Amino acid sequence: MLNILIDCDKSFIPKAYYVFETFFTYYKAKIKFYYKFEDIDNNEKTLIYSNKKIPIVENKKYIFFFQSEETIEFFIKNKKITKDQISDLDSLNPMFKCKKRENSEKFDLIASIFYFLSAWQEKDNIIYENKGRFLAKDSIQYAAGKLEVPLVDIWFEILAKKILTLGIKLNKVNQLYDKRNILNLSHDIDFVYESHTKLFHLTKKKLYNIIKNKKNTNLPSYSIYRFLSYKQKKILDILYRLTFEKGFSSTFNIMMEYNSFDLKAVYRLCKIVDGSNSEIGIHPTVADLKDSNFDNLINKFKEKYKVRNIYGMRIHELAFSPDRLYNKLDSTDGILYDNSMMFHDLPGFRTSFSLPHKFFCKNKNTSLNVLSIPIFSMDTSFTKYMHLNEKETEESIDKIVQENINKGGITSILIHNNFFYSRTKHRINLYKKWINQIFESEGSIVSTRDLFFWHNKLNKSFSNQLK
Ligand SMILES: [Zn+2]
Repeated sequence: MLNILIDCDKSFIPKAYYVFETFFTYYKAKIKFYYKFEDIDNNEKTLIYSNKKIPIVENKKYIFFFQSEETIEFFIKNKKITKDQISDLDSLNPMFKCKKRENSEKFDLIASIFYFLSAWQEKDNIIYENKGRFLAKDSIQYAAGKLEVPLVDIWFEILAKKILTLGIKLNKVNQLYDKRNILNLSHDIDFVYESHTKLFHLTKKKLYNIIKNKKNTNLPSYSIYRFLSYKQKKILDILYRLTFEKGFSSTFNIMMEYNSFDLKAVYRLCKIVDGSNSEIGIHPTVADLKDSNFDNLINKFKEKYKVRNIYGMRIHELAFSPDRLYNKLDSTDGILYDNSMMFHDLPGFRTSFSLPHKFFCKNKNTSLNVLSIPIFSMDTSFTKYMHLNEKETEESIDKIVQENINKGGITSILIHNNFFYSRTKHRINLYKKWINQIFESEGSIVSTRDLFFWHNKLNKSFSNQLK
């Protein structure tokens, strides 16, 4: 058994607990929480997070993280991360240090992990760009060159190793379905039918390039799918069928409103997906969310699309402030997870963690029940925001899939249905290749709901063992 003593600055107690809860959800051990040193009445080994002097026991049966005054001040006064802290991150070290004491660890893993998991850097909710989105380029992960490195995953491993040196039995949980590599695949259906206005503008731009002899290779290519609406509708079937055939599942996120042609195609998709192992998610816009009663919105959605169960959502265009969004979701019964935690402008980890985790509400200083399932990247990041051409975009997504197969772990990516309206044959073959490769590597493609259920079970077993 391991005692966890949380005796740090009072305002930080819920934060530290949140970090330990997230950690012990994925690393199983028999633990017991204490909040005062005097209350510990057993002889068990202890993990301490405190800003107070701890009476020293002779044969080091503890790990001690001493919370420094500077760290406490940082969070209370909402200070900014310094250049020195960023260079610590650059070498994969936690940016908060413990107060130098004989028996304390050097780095404050707890505060450093909390900073990322809670998206603390977005606390001020500064409007960074026209849609109010937080940019990867403004994050400290980016400044440290660690956007694609899940620092929290790495620091959890370090914490686990330290606990193991105490001789505690600690087991990292198996991934979903005991698979080594898992790809969480979701599709946002923003529209089905590409309007002729769009085609007209595309043609205009292409003509301009020819006349002016410009080599703008970033424009989408023509495809028969761009001209024929029934072909566009077919893409939805193909995406569903290809994953289904291998016994895999995925998530289709559906908006509140479509034009009448799209609506027909979306109804059909919902009918096929609902009740299957794949999932329908809700894909509201910021305007939809302004609706004061979110429960009504969910009911309206279920009624409209005749979908029996909704588990999660992703917000359209990712224009949200995490604290506000999660607070709203937490007060509704209908939504159990959110799948919006990603950067739209670059691939990477917004909370520097690759796994689902509860969200911590900074204003209320407490963790919420709604689950945040992070996404690594999406097709439009490469085209719309990084301005890569079509081939480069395909290569970028392919690289993410290959890395998941080679390194293992869980990777979440989002591919819009209209990604397949360019170079359609090639892209469908690419999609088939990914599915086959994952199948052959004995990995799995899962829906976001599958990840939710997995985390839910792990978190329940965390709570149960505390009883
Ligand atoms: Zn969207």
